[in-house]
Amino acid sequence: MAEILFKGGRLIDPASGVDTTSDVLVSGGRVIEVGSNLSSNGAETIDISGAVICPGFIDLHVHLREPGREDEETVATGSAAAARGGFTAVGAMPNTDPVCDNAAVADKVAAAARLAGMCEVIPAGALTKGLEGKYITPVGEMVTCSAGVRMFTDDGKGVQDSRILRRAMEYIKGFDAICAEHCDDAALSEGGQMHEGYYSDMLGLKGMPAAAEDIALARDLVLARLTGVRYHALHVSTKGSVELIRQAKAQGVRVTAEVTPHHLILTDSELQSFDPVNKVNPPLRSSSDVEACRVGLADGTLDAIATDHAPHSREEKESEFELAPPGMVGLETALALMITEIVDPGILTLAELVRRLTSVPAGILRLAGQGGPVAEGGVANLTVFDPAAEWLIDPETFVSKSRNTPFKGRTVRGRVLHTVFGGNLVVRNGEISPDYHAALSVGTSLGAQQ
Ligand SMILES: [Zn+2]
Repeated sequence: MAEILFKGGRLIDPASGVDTTSDVLVSGGRVIEVGSNLSSNGAETIDISGAVICPGFIDLHVHLREPGREDEETVATGSAAAARGGFTAVGAMPNTDPVCDNAAVADKVAAAARLAGMCEVIPAGALTKGLEGKYITPVGEMVTCSAGVRMFTDDGKGVQDSRILRRAMEYIKGFDAICAEHCDDAALSEGGQMHEGYYSDMLGLKGMPAAAEDIALARDLVLARLTGVRYHALHVSTKGSVELIRQAKAQGVRVTAEVTPHHLILTDSELQSFDPVNKVNPPLRSSSDVEACRVGLADGTLDAIATDHAPHSREEKESEFELAPPGMVGLETALALMITEIVDPGILTLAELVRRLTSVPAGILRLAGQGGPVAEGGVANLTVFDPAAEWLIDPETFVSKSRNTPFKGRTVRGRVLHTVFGGNLVVRNGEISPDYHAALSVGTSLGAQQ
């Protein structure tokens, strides 16, 4: 295991309230010392002056496609994409094939992640069997299995039956786990291709009204209050949702929320290109929704930034608009997009952005050894990034298996230089270390074992 001295960086450690120039010495998988003028004692010294060193980022919401669609992503390639984006932990959504609705699938995903060794993967369990909205899953066995499932969701769709959702919430509350929802009233959004509004009218595409998200979220918040469950709103995208969450928090409902980079940056006007790369669910919304999400992020109504990294094959994404699946990749561009579009315009400070990517999501998932503090004896999960480095987003350089980003060709600021996971330098100078190349080319195939 590597012994590394990071010298002269700006340590931003939200968990301990530290924001100062500091050296960080890592050895044997742990942070050994934090302070100024540390001597290397034989450790490799990496000069990071001008860069930020902070806890590894945590993404509450990714799709790793394994088992089932290893042509689009695997746990290994998704872990590599995460590491390259500065993430040391990700929450993997359960809409795989087979669905992660039991401990066996959850354990296999977590085991594949341990084998790849580039990032911690915490599988989310399905709320209902097969994501069918009918029968509650064996929550207890998933919470207690070695994967340690702590979030339950039917992400991709919402649970439509309020009675089933209420029972699921009561059950989940008994394990002090999180009930997370993709808020969508399916009857309202059925057949929708994009946000319902001026552009859907103009383009002649069937719309998904903001009301479909608002109504589902409003119901969920009523049930969250009734049951007392810890509730998490996935990828909030509407002005109405932000207002509902703000109210619910003020009233003491146990609710947290996440927002994606694309819902903070892009509007439904992008759909004029008819390029399915802009198709996503929830859809890109109107400019007033985007503005409301930015305000909600700034004032803390929206807690965390999550990518909803959703890899899709070129063939599928380049098909007819109506047939193309929704989703965008996000792990390798999140930090730079947030610095360029959120920090530079003054919506969040850099230190606050780091908090929303580290200690805040760690607190939601109650992860040990992630999100800081960066202190002596702590697990060495760290990210080093240059907040000023400019680069051009070129999907062909991604280590993710998929290339479906609407941000291709953008010049952005902020680049991940090094990612340390469990004391190992997984990313060095912006690239995956050679030690992990074998894991990437081989990958794993869990689907065949099911
Ligand atoms: Zn979703």
